[in-house]
Amino acid sequence: MKCPFCGNEMKEGTLHSGGRYVQWKGVDAEGRKEEYLLAKSYMGGAKMEGHLCVECRKVILDIDQF
Ligand SMILES: [Zn+2]
Repeated sequence: MKCPFCGNEMKEGTLHSGGRYVQWKGVDAEGRKEEYLLAKSYMGGAKMEGHLCVECRKVILDIDQF
């Protein structure tokens, strides 16, 4: 997916929260695990799939239907 702000290719992965940090976890083009610290947080645990633009520091998430 292309970033709607800068046009660069976004990284697929999952947003993880819980404990003290919100992190992005994905894999790079060679299949190696990548992790990005997005925020320090005291949110409850959650995991959501989405796309990350490292250049713009933006995340687009898919939200479950409730
Ligand atoms: Zn971007």
